[in-house]
Amino acid sequence: MSYISVNDLKTQYKTQTGIVHAVDGVSFFLEKGESIGIAGESACGKSTLGLSLMRALQGGIVVSGDILLDGKSIIKMSESEFTKNYRWKEISMVFQGAMNSLDPVFTVEHQFHEILKQHNYTGDFDKRIAEIITSVGLNNSVLKKFPHELSGGMKQRIVIAMALLLNPKFVIADEPTTALDVLVQAQVISLLKKLKKEGLSIMLITHDLAIISEIAEKIGVMYGGKMIEFGSSSEIYKDPKHPYTQGLLQSIPSLKENKKPQYIRGNPPTLLNPPQGCRFYDRCPHAMEKCKKDPPKIKTDSGYVQCWLYE
Ligand code: SF4
Repeated sequence: MSYISVNDLKTQYKTQTGIVHAVDGVSFFLEKGESIGIAGESACGKSTLGLSLMRALQGGIVVSGDILLDGKSIIKMSESEFTKNYRWKEISMVFQGAMNSLDPVFTVEHQFHEILKQHNYTGDFDKRIAEIITSVGLNNSVLKKFPHELSGGMKQRIVIAMALLLNPKFVIADEPTTALDVLVQAQVISLLKKLKKEGLSIMLITHDLAIISEIAEKIGVMYGGKMIEFGSSSEIYKDPKHPYTQGLLQSIPSLKENKKPQYIRGNPPTLLNPPQGCRFYDRCPHAMEKCKKDPPKIKTDSGYVQCWLYE
């Protein structure tokens, strides 16, 4: 039994113009201590997938499929059970842009205290806060500061520390390096690597495949609400199967090879009324007639690829 198992998950948003099929039949699994990178362009459903796992959807609902954590369905359990035993304690999230949501009128220390109070933490507050601040490579002096007195990198470390405060085993990090300069990005990546080494499972949501290679054993590539390729990072980096994954990897500039980065022509499909067949059809250099009708799911050694080329 896998630690995390997501089975044919479908999450939708009802809007005035129709239903947005944001996550449309996504499946993947992770063993304990393993991490996964979720890659793809903007609006492909990556963040909605993370929010579905955290049961923190705003306006969206999981319409079918299941998410099992250690064999237990977190979709079927009551909200009170999830809040009491799972949210922040077993599974937590660093939300996209979270460093900008620190409350400007309270010190960092006050904000840590609030979290522990809200979750009825029974241990020593100051001891736990000092432990977690040290574990993200900060000094206790940041506790007396207000958010505006901190750099972007410090704020990002603080929101990561907040997500870890109640000792979860699985953390979803949504674009944790976006809006940071490259040096601070490198610091945040090395912090995530250190936490992973200490046993944390991470789901890293990013549009940057290069970052995933540093942290995750598995990759799920999303396109148009579907996970079009899933498997081990080493295999997918070495031998990407889906034409979209190939395009993403070819768009990363290389310092070693004297090759121009390529780009994927065209735009992703609308998720309001997505095409019936392969969603990459309009942009795919290998598109065939049958791709228009039905996207297949072909098993690979370590996962699957949704492409007729591997029938
Ligand atoms: Fe291209 Fe067809 Fe594969 Fe889709 S199924 S990625 S259109 S070859």
